[in-house]
Amino acid sequence: YFDVSPPLLNRMLEGKSRQILKAVDGIDFAIGKGETFSLVGESGCGKSTVARLVVGLYRATDGTIEFDGHDFGRMTTRAAMAPIRSRIQMIFQDPYASLNPRWRVREIIAEPIRAYRLLSGDKAINARVDELLRQVRLTPADGTKFPHEFSGGQRQRISIARALASNPEFLVCDEPTSALDVSVQAQILNLMKDLQRELGLTYLFISHNLAVVYHISDRVGVMYLGRLAEVAPVKTLFRQPRHPYTRMLLDTIPDMDMTGRQRHPVAGEVPSPINPPSGCSFHPRCPFANDRCKAERPNPIRVGDAFIACHGVEEGRVPDGPIGTAQA
Ligand code: SF4
Ligand code: MG
Repeated sequence: YFDVSPPLLNRMLEGKSRQILKAVDGIDFAIGKGETFSLVGESGCGKSTVARLVVGLYRATDGTIEFDGHDFGRMTTRAAMAPIRSRIQMIFQDPYASLNPRWRVREIIAEPIRAYRLLSGDKAINARVDELLRQVRLTPADGTKFPHEFSGGQRQRISIARALASNPEFLVCDEPTSALDVSVQAQILNLMKDLQRELGLTYLFISHNLAVVYHISDRVGVMYLGRLAEVAPVKTLFRQPRHPYTRMLLDTIPDMDMTGRQRHPVAGEVPSPINPPSGCSFHPRCPFANDRCKAERPNPIRVGDAFIACHGVEEGRVPDGPIGTAQA
């Protein structure tokens, strides 16, 4: 249904400033219809970059981004993208920043309906907005208010309603609950799960919070410095993480209470994604690193129902069980 293949890009340029933003390289994953695929990793790992590539906000210099058989990544004009663009929508971390503060909620949600000319006439559009408000568990009366009159969680409901307004099949959600209190996070995640079931949606979910990822995902890709360290079904990843980086990440969460509190942080600093370490980019922080790890970049291999990019796992020299934290 949705397919990103390597080499996705070697370098990426930001439109106006032409400043090199971030390197994302060799990211390869496919998302099935109706599935929730999550990308998890520390800040700077490139997960938001992948999200923006997927919705066409950034251009890839290499590789393919395919949506439902269309080579979305190669389309360069708005006109070429238009029929697909409405089928893919994005939800951002900060709902307030993405909602026009001077517009009433009704106009905010109606905007994509007008932009994509999905309905005409105020009556039909208003009825559709009412339906969208109810779908996100708000009321039609809420449509007359302004964004500042709502709480953070309600504002995220408004941005979800706006994202749903164009009848998308695929939603890219970049840290959609990270700015919210823990109890509100759970409500929004549950709403997203309900909407997925009701509307048959497919999600690419971006988060640094493993507890959130555990709650929402079918499959998870663990990113480190612009590459995928491990891709696995969520149960496999949490029961039997194999990549040393995944295991160190999991070691930082005490439980699944979604507090985001860390038991102990992952050892060592995250190196710059612009100039990643040679070979396996995790080698400066990995307790199992050897000379091959420093020299040779690991390619993903299949282990059970997971894909792991690690020489140590491939060679059988990464033991199971708890992992000690390495000193950088
Ligand atoms: Fe550690 Fe080597 Fe595996 Fe990288 S390839 S995670 S350095 S064992
Ligand atoms: Mg980010």
